[in-house]
Amino acid sequence: MAGEVWTIGKLLKWTEDYFTKAGLDTPRLDGEVLLCHVLKKERIHLYVHFDQPLTKEELAQYKACIKERVQHKPVAHIVGHKEFMGLDFKVNEATLIPRPDTEILVEAVISRLKTGQEGVGTIADIGTGSGAICLSLLNYLPNLKAVTVDISPEAIEVAKENAELLGLSDRVEFCQGDMLEPIKDRRFTAIISNPPYIPEGDIAGLEPDVRDFEPISALVAGPDGLDFYRRLVAGAGNMIADDGFLALEIGINQAKALEALGQEHGWGRCEIVKDLAGIDRVVILWKQK
Ligand code: SAM
Ligand code: GLN
Repeated sequence: MAGEVWTIGKLLKWTEDYFTKAGLDTPRLDGEVLLCHVLKKERIHLYVHFDQPLTKEELAQYKACIKERVQHKPVAHIVGHKEFMGLDFKVNEATLIPRPDTEILVEAVISRLKTGQEGVGTIADIGTGSGAICLSLLNYLPNLKAVTVDISPEAIEVAKENAELLGLSDRVEFCQGDMLEPIKDRRFTAIISNPPYIPEGDIAGLEPDVRDFEPISALVAGPDGLDFYRRLVAGAGNMIADDGFLALEIGINQAKALEALGQEHGWGRCEIVKDLAGIDRVVILWKQK
């Protein structure tokens, strides 16, 4: 790269080829997001300034980002944040990067809290990570309050920071601890969780971006991936108001097991919500029929 003039357009094309050869899934998008990070600009800037040359410093900083990305470090970790539900969340190696799939869970909860409870009440978010789920809910339901739990103190620090940045700190309480344990004597309008759900044996086969960079404790859930669901389904019933529900993100082929767990533990109606690919993605267990 030294000596040559590198414009935004030329650099993006070069990156796309380089990332494609490196086997990355979204080479163009990754290059654009990294370049925006270096230039501190929105993506639209890249398109209207295709011929803008980069300074030496910008080029050096971009090169460092490229180097990290070809080693499969996730883009969100390189730039330090990720968009979720139209909001910006700080993330780091202690938090799962919020996934688009999880927006299905948040949207399902918003629509049910809006019609049923006028958005009033307190929800609990178990395994909050960056705070993506509960802070989005608070942002879109202005009368809601939330309590969040995570086993990881480092993740809670990130979630607290996100609450500050989004101006939501006064409506959320943070608890460090094991699943329902720190809040077991309280009652909620709903309990929501995207717990770890990957079977131990599947971890080795995950994408390197996930396997080598995201916290394993955010992903793995015993031999069949159901460890955390068993605890939530068994324990949450007494902590939810009579017209309330437990809403869970699930992995591929886990819906039947969740339905059976719900029946075993005396839950009422079981709703299953599919994602955009038609895969069962969310299970909602209502306290009543
Ligand atoms: N809610 C975030 C999201 O959807 O992006 C993060 C979900 S991540 C799949 C699961 C989270 O559960 C991680 O933040 C992890 O630290 C937390 N976790 C793992 N074991 C836990 C436990 N025993 N008690 C509470 N939280 C736990
Ligand atoms: N959907 C995540 C993944 O792709 C898994 C998250 C979880 O275990 N809750 O790796």
